[in-house]
Amino acid sequence: MNTIHKLLDEIREGEVVALTRDLVRIPSVYRSGDPEANESRVAAFVEAWFRREGFHVEVQLVAPGRPNVIAWLDATGSGPSLLLEGHTDVVTEGDPTEWSHPPFAADVVDGKLYGRGATDMKSGLAAAMIAAAAFRRAGVSLRGRLVVGALVDEEGGMLGVHHLCTTPVGKALSAAIICEPEQNEICLEQRGVVWARLRVRGRMAHGAMPEAGVNSIEGIGTILRELPALRRRLRRICTRSRHLRPPTVTPTVLRSPIQGVAQPNVIPSGSELILDVRLTPGIDGDEIRRAIERLCRQVESAQPGIKVEWEPLGALRLPTKVAKGEPLVRAMVAAVKTVTGKAPRYGGVPGSTDGTILRTVLGIPIVTYGPGNRLIPHQVDEYVEIKELIEAAQVYAVAALKFLEG
Ligand SMILES: [Zn+2]
Repeated sequence: MNTIHKLLDEIREGEVVALTRDLVRIPSVYRSGDPEANESRVAAFVEAWFRREGFHVEVQLVAPGRPNVIAWLDATGSGPSLLLEGHTDVVTEGDPTEWSHPPFAADVVDGKLYGRGATDMKSGLAAAMIAAAAFRRAGVSLRGRLVVGALVDEEGGMLGVHHLCTTPVGKALSAAIICEPEQNEICLEQRGVVWARLRVRGRMAHGAMPEAGVNSIEGIGTILRELPALRRRLRRICTRSRHLRPPTVTPTVLRSPIQGVAQPNVIPSGSELILDVRLTPGIDGDEIRRAIERLCRQVESAQPGIKVEWEPLGALRLPTKVAKGEPLVRAMVAAVKTVTGKAPRYGGVPGSTDGTILRTVLGIPIVTYGPGNRLIPHQVDEYVEIKELIEAAQVYAVAALKFLEG
């Protein structure tokens, strides 16, 4: 029996499904200030599972109750180091009465597994775990190091991956497969996101005498009118992508006044608007900053007396792109062909992932590929197709073999 068959023999549908159900049944919604609401229980489960399988395990406490679990198999040579990446946090289930399958029951009906995290992304994580374990169980050793990372806080500030990038096992990585739900399409591009907080300053005055003040709310109005120009500017800088929607600029949060009490007869001196800016590859951080800066100056010149300043909320998450010729991409393409017997389908990631940070901080190539419909995450009745889940586990194993053995 050849090596690929030995590996695929160790990936059994019943076990992959059971592991995914175990993970879904451990709620891991993070709620700030609630010591019970975090990733710690599911991380402890993942840690114990890898220890039983004979992996090296490193638990990295990123924040109280929020541990990354990093597991790896020793390499027999000095080959590259490949990460299969997943996150353990899930978003809120919302109102459980809106679900037709309870959010943490992990019901299996008609080839689908239901629950919060079923697609985003306990299925991808389970597939990665089983794929890695298949090497040890089948007695297949690798010249490079195969690493599985179950990281915290992907749905928030991505603390887990930022932490991983500062550790020896993180710094030694050569490439990563991001196991996020992309309906088993090979994604070489990810959209970037910048959250820009714009603050408008005017001058407070009585509502009966608007001529005595400068109304910051009118400054917000001017910003809104200028947004199509910003969007056009960004679309000119970013390259067109076959797999990604073009850049968008969306106002999402509005606050006025910024300080003090809102009163009907007081013109607010300060107002604030947050923009969700989505980007495609081809733009860098300086170009983004300049485009938003220009918007601020245009608003100021359109409205005398107004001051507009902006700052990004958190780090810029730049769009990413990886070339088709990368050994990781070639390994993935070959793996999909081996497992499915068909040419791969390509896609693009509409948002940012932990892969964004691995790509921009470590500079390593990433491919996003995982089970679950791309539109399903964060909805009620989230589900994953079991067929896709098993296929992903098989593809991860074969891709890891091809990439790490060359
Ligand atoms: Zn996710």
